[in-house]
Formats: sequence, structure tokens, C-alpha cells
Amino acid sequence: MTIDFRSDTVTRPTPAMLEAMHSAKVGDDVFGEDPTVNALEQYAADMFGMEAGIFCPSGTMTNQIAIKCHTQPSDEVICEKQSHIYQYEGGGIASNAGCQVKLVEGDRGRITAAQVLAAINPNDIHKAPSSLVSLENTSNRGGGSCYEWEEMEAIRQVCNQHHLKLHLDGARLFNALVAKNQTTRQYGAVFDSISICLSKSLGAPVGSILLGNKSFITQARRVRKRFGGGMRQAGYIAAAGLYALQNHIQRLKEDHVHAQQIARAVAQKKFVKNILPVETNIIIFELNDSITAATLVARLKEKGVLWYAIDVHKIRIVLHLDITASMVQQTIDIIQTL
Ligand SMILES: *Cc1c(COP(=O)(O)O)cnc(C)c1O
Repeated sequence: MTIDFRSDTVTRPTPAMLEAMHSAKVGDDVFGEDPTVNALEQYAADMFGMEAGIFCPSGTMTNQIAIKCHTQPSDEVICEKQSHIYQYEGGGIASNAGCQVKLVEGDRGRITAAQVLAAINPNDIHKAPSSLVSLENTSNRGGGSCYEWEEMEAIRQVCNQHHLKLHLDGARLFNALVAKNQTTRQYGAVFDSISICLSKSLGAPVGSILLGNKSFITQARRVRKRFGGGMRQAGYIAAAGLYALQNHIQRLKEDHVHAQQIARAVAQKKFVKNILPVETNIIIFELNDSITAATLVARLKEKGVLWYAIDVHKIRIVLHLDITASMVQQTIDIIQTL
């Protein structure tokens, strides 16, 4: 048996989730006639106190649609250097929205209101108009780090003063909510748009949702169609997402406890140079020169444990709902034999 820590995207639907999918009522969602997709979009929008939502195949698509809808070609998007929208979306900001980025170097993926303020271009014909700030919470490359609520509010103030839109890449937002005791409503009141992934730590097989006001989501429907993301009887996968939102949020705490337990075992190893603070379900650590990440990953694989080398000397471990307490114990035992 393998224990797969490479990502929280590797989960399989639970029997109860499969049952919800099996019994879903469906229709043609491009015609707006899939009752389960409509229910999911409404449910998510209500959770956040936002006006509307749109179900999409991936978090890359929800982010890219948001960036496209908030900007004009040649605008500048302010984001953190390690952010997913910049690092892992195939240059989509440039090709889909025709925008350039202003990269800010944050602390474990998080930027401050002062940094946002300093990154805004002056009203000068030489400069690209700054029009959008995008935050990521939790930060993937930041090792699952979470924003403080006050910082996001302060960033909102800066955006208001300079007429910038504020987007949240909330691929793992629910991990942050659970870790920080924050509410979905708080987020809905501060961001112009929010992307959440159902296929990450929530355990659905496919799908993300983009939330915003009605006119924004109407525009998003056009862009989704243009990007090829209009789906037909998508209710079968939306049912999994709805099930996940209704049943898989509180259990994220277990993943966070498991992450702490594994991190403690990892931190004791001589070959570990440093380990990022563990706030949620992600552990990122750096190795010293005695071993490469690829070598360590290969050694673990022989023992049935899958980790992910994110750099020559860096490894990422992600907890999720297919990893049980006994698998965590087994993994700790294996770490101790290394
Ligand atoms: C996974 C992820 C996304 C979206 O990824 P998809 O694989 O396209 O669903 C966006 N942002 C972050 C931070 C992510 O980790």
C-alpha cells in the first residue's frame, strides 16, 4: 500500500460522496439548466455572503477568469513572487488577460498592505495601470501559511484608496478558515472575487468555484465559455463539490494535527536544514547538502511513502482526507528509520 503525500489533489471520492454524485439531478449547464450546479453555485455564494458563483473545471480557470474580468490588456497585476497565478498557470496572466505582473517578495507567500501600496504604479503615461491585487490564502509555496485578518483588511483599504480590485486565490481557503477561526462571511465582505478549490483538501474529484457580484459573474460566464470551460451535465461533479462543502470542512483540523505530528518527526532528522512553520496541511522543508530531494523521495518511495520534490533541496508533504491516523503513525515510524 502506498501513502500518497504528494498533494491533496490525489483523494478519491468517499462512498457517501459517490452516492451523492450517483443520485444527482442534472441538466445542460450551458443552458443554465443543471439544478445541482445551480444549487452548488448558490450554496457557495450564500456561505460567503456574496451575490453569485460560477462552477469551473479547475482553480487555474477560476483564477484566470477573475484576472481577465478585473483587468484590461496592458494593466499590471500585483501579486507575490511565489503565487500560483504567477508560478503555475502557464503564463496565463499574459496570454489570457494581456497583463503584466508586479511581483512582491513576501513572507512565506504573504504580502503586506505597505508592500501593496509601494507596488502601485503612479498615474504616469510611462507606467502600466495597476488594477488588481491578488492574494493567496493559504499560500502553497509558503508551506500552507495563513494571512492575519487585519492585514487583508488593510490591503482592502489600500485597494479602495487606489481603485484596485482585490482577488483571493483561495485554493485552500478552508484550511485557513479552520486554522485561524475565521468565517466565510468575513472574506465575502472584503474581496471582490474569491476562487475556492473543491478538488484540493475538500476531497472532491474535480472543480472550483469563483464568487463575486452578479455583474462580475455574468461577465465570468462569457469568459468561461470562451476559455472552453462551459460544461453540460456537470451536476454529477457539482454534487461531489456540494457534498464536500457540507461535510468536509470541519475535518480539516485532523489534517492540521497530522501535519504537526509528521513535521515534528521530520525536524529531528540530521539531513533537514530547515522546515517552514506548519500552520495547516502542508509541510515544506529544506535538506542540507548531504542528500538531494530526488534521492530522499526515491528512498521513501521504496517504503511505500510518496513525497514531492519541489526543488533540488526542497520537499513538500501534504495531508488530506485519504490519510488516516494510522498511516501518519506508519510514516513517522518510517521517518525514524531513515
Ligand atoms: C492547486 C492550486 C490552484 C488551482 O489549481 P488547479 O489544479 O488548476 O485546480 C490555484 N492556486 C493554488 C494556490 C493552488 O494550490
